[in-house]
Formats: sequence, C-alpha cells, structure tokens
Amino acid sequence: MHAQVGIIGAGPAGLLLGHLLHLKGIDSVIVENRSQDYVIDRVRAGVLEQGTVDLMIQMGVGARLQREGLRHEGLYISFSGRRHHIDLAELTGGKAITVYGQNEVVKDLIDARIATGRPVYFEAANVSVHDIDSPRPKIRFQKDGRNQEIACDFIAGCDGFHGICRPSIPEGSIKIYEREYPFGWLGILAEAAPSSEELVYTYHERGFALFSMRSPKITRLYFQVPPAEDIGNWSDDAIWDEMLIRMTTRDGWKPNTGRILQKGVTPMRSFVAEPMRYGRMFLAGDAAHIVPPTGAKGLNLAAADVMVLAQAFARFYQQNSTQLLDQYSDICLRRVWKAQRFSWWMTSTLHRFPGETEFDYRRQLADLDYLIGSRAAMTSLAENYVGLPMDVPLV
Ligand SMILES: Cc1cc2nc3c(=O)[nH]c(=O)nc-3n(C[C@H](O)[C@H](O)[C@H](O)COP(=O)(O)OP(=O)(O)OC[C@H]3O[C@@H](n4cnc5c(N)ncnc54)[C@H](O)[C@@H]3O)c2cc1C
Repeated sequence: MHAQVGIIGAGPAGLLLGHLLHLKGIDSVIVENRSQDYVIDRVRAGVLEQGTVDLMIQMGVGARLQREGLRHEGLYISFSGRRHHIDLAELTGGKAITVYGQNEVVKDLIDARIATGRPVYFEAANVSVHDIDSPRPKIRFQKDGRNQEIACDFIAGCDGFHGICRPSIPEGSIKIYEREYPFGWLGILAEAAPSSEELVYTYHERGFALFSMRSPKITRLYFQVPPAEDIGNWSDDAIWDEMLIRMTTRDGWKPNTGRILQKGVTPMRSFVAEPMRYGRMFLAGDAAHIVPPTGAKGLNLAAADVMVLAQAFARFYQQNSTQLLDQYSDICLRRVWKAQRFSWWMTSTLHRFPGETEFDYRRQLADLDYLIGSRAAMTSLAENYVGLPMDVPLV
C-alpha cells in the first residue's frame, strides 16, 4: 500500500487530520490498534474551545455538534462556600465553550471518514514505524493475521501518550519536559440532570472538585485524590458524600445525585516533547504533549496541532514548499506552552498540595478573591479558557 500521509491513531488528532487532508485532496491511511467501538466509547474530554467548534463546522462535521452540543457563555469559580460567575462571552467579545463529549466528536469523525471511503484500519496489531528519517517512511502492522506495510511520504504520529511513534525517535533527538502532580482526579459519570447550566470549579479545604455535564441528563463530576488512589476504595455512597461536602455552597446549591454509570481515577501530568518532528514523522496531540485536564485543553491542542499540520502538507503538495512543515513544531509549541502555563495555573490555584502550609492556603484564597474582583484577571482566564486565536486559517 502507499499513502501520501500515514496516520497512526484514530483519536481526535488522527481523525481530524485525516478529514482535513481529505478536504485538501491529500490521501491518507489511518491505522488504529483498538476496535471502533472501544475508540467511540472511551469517555474523556468534554469541553471544546470556540476554535475547535468553528473548525468542526467549517470541516462539514459539525451538524450534530451544533444540534446537541451545550454552548456555555460562562463558568463558575466556587470557594469559601460561594459561587462566582465569570462571563466568558462578555469578556472575550462573544466567544464561548461548547460541552460535547470527546466520544461524540470521535463518532462524528469516524462516520465522516467512512463516508469518504478512505481507509481506516481498526484493531491493527503490532503497529510499528520504519525509515522515518528517509524519504519513504513505512508503517507495518498485522490485520486479521496478515502482515501489512504502508509506504508513505510522511507519517503523522497521532497515537496518544502511550503510543509507539514518540518512542521510535532515537534517543537524544527529542527533549522531554515533564511535571507530575501529587494528585489525580476521581471522575464519575452519573445519571443525574445537571443542577447548573454551567461548569463549577470548586476550591475547597479538602481539595479541588469540578462539576460538569455531558448532556441534559448526564452529570460529569470530579474531585482531587492522591495520584495512586484505588477506585476500589470508593463506594458510590462515599463518592457522593465527598462530592457534596466539597461542592455544596452556602446558598444550598449542590449537584443532583443519581446512579453512577462509570468511575475511575486519572493521574495528572504536564509533558512536552520538543521538537514535535523527527525526519518525516510529525507528532500531534497527546503523542507530543499532555496537560492536566483542569484547563480543558488536551483535545483542543490536538485540534490546533493538526490544523497546522494539514496546512503544512497542503503547502508541500500544492506548492512544493517545505517551509510550513519546517515551522510546524515551532508554531505548535508556542501554543502548547501557553496552554501548559494556563493549565498549570488553573491546577495550582484550585488544588491542595500535600504538605502545603496555612500560608499557602490563604494565598490561594487571595488569588481566587483577586480573580473574581478584577476584570483584567477574569479576562485573562476567559480568553485562555475559550481558546487563544488559532495560528493558521481554519480549513
Ligand atoms: C479524564 C480525562 C479528562 C479530560 N478532559 C479534557 C477536557 O475537558 N478537555 C480537553 O480538551 N481535553 C481533555 N482531556 C484530554 C483529551 O482527552 C486528550 O488530550 C485527547 O484525547 C488527545 O487526543 P489525541 O488524538 O492526541 O490522543 P488520543 O485520544 O489518546 O488518541 C490516540 C489514539 O491512538 C491509538 N493508539 C495508541 N497506540 C497505538 C498504536 N500503537 N497503534 C495504533 N494506534 C494506537 C489509541 O487507541 C487512540 O485511539 C482529558 C483526558 C482525560 C484522560
């Protein structure tokens, strides 16, 4: 087989890239090691920046997102028992975020991929990359017990944090910047109507908590726990008790409770690999960087990366220019580091750190008190949260 671009991973990055390339008349093959159902059912991100929504619509894959996505023009910051509203739209000239599950995004993109008739291989075993620093890199894998090889002009490593692309780069050719946080998030999906129309970020003396939702019937909630916490230690009743202790405000607002459909613990880390390229292989999305989920940036960064990458491939095939390909890593990393900064700030402002002192606790409260009293501080949060301007035209 031959493909102009071989894409490894059918997560948001790989699927978005595949469709952007399709719109530009560039052929691609997508190779994914999980099943189609597994990829669609994986519950993860849910907050789409304005630019990600605009991208989906302009790509022609935004119809269901526009119908079913929940547009939020504000959010709440809660501390000392009070919720404070931040008007994202008013502070950013009308921009907003949209709550639409990552699994819905992936489902829409898989439907779109299948409709194009372009190849996507699920359940590909033993995926590997070869000759990535040569003009003809290759992807090898097994499908239904048969060996397959795709000779490519370029490979896009969109295979997430645990994929094989980044580890295939020779040691010393990329530099890793990393920070692990001394906590994780215990997250649940519950059959309960959201009791707030907008997200509520809570800083409580027992630690961080987040109220969010996936649909008018499903609430998504998180609270901070130690990073290696065993979910088996948490009965459903104990989870609800902790959620309610942290989130209930003095005016009596609290999440509605209901049957817990899914629960799990996710550790948190910041991670950046530089540069996001080796030879003819380009890394995009979680394969190149991870942010703690507090700023809701992971999926959005993946979208921003592949927008640049798709434009760069188009420039190569249409104008025979490698200029944008050569600039790909630098362009993306500027945005990635700003997202790292914002996600780190949200995380460190809203979480309790082991061993912190009463001084630290009061300083954090003062940080939040300043935030809700200063238009400049709220604007800074708002423009980062709805998403900084994209670096290249949308499609
Ligand atoms: C609990 C949680 C909450 C989150 N909340 C948010 C949020 O609110 N907002 C936000 O923007 N982000 C959030 N994120 C982050 C977001 O989910 C990721 O940043 C996003 O999935 C990145 O997309 P990706 O395509 O780069 O990687 P992935 O979604 O990880 O996709 C990579 C794909 O590659 C496949 N793959 C892996 N290895 C191989 C291999 N060897 N061969 C072939 N295929 C392979 C994987 O199966 C997967 O399908 C959250 C993440 C978690 C875990």
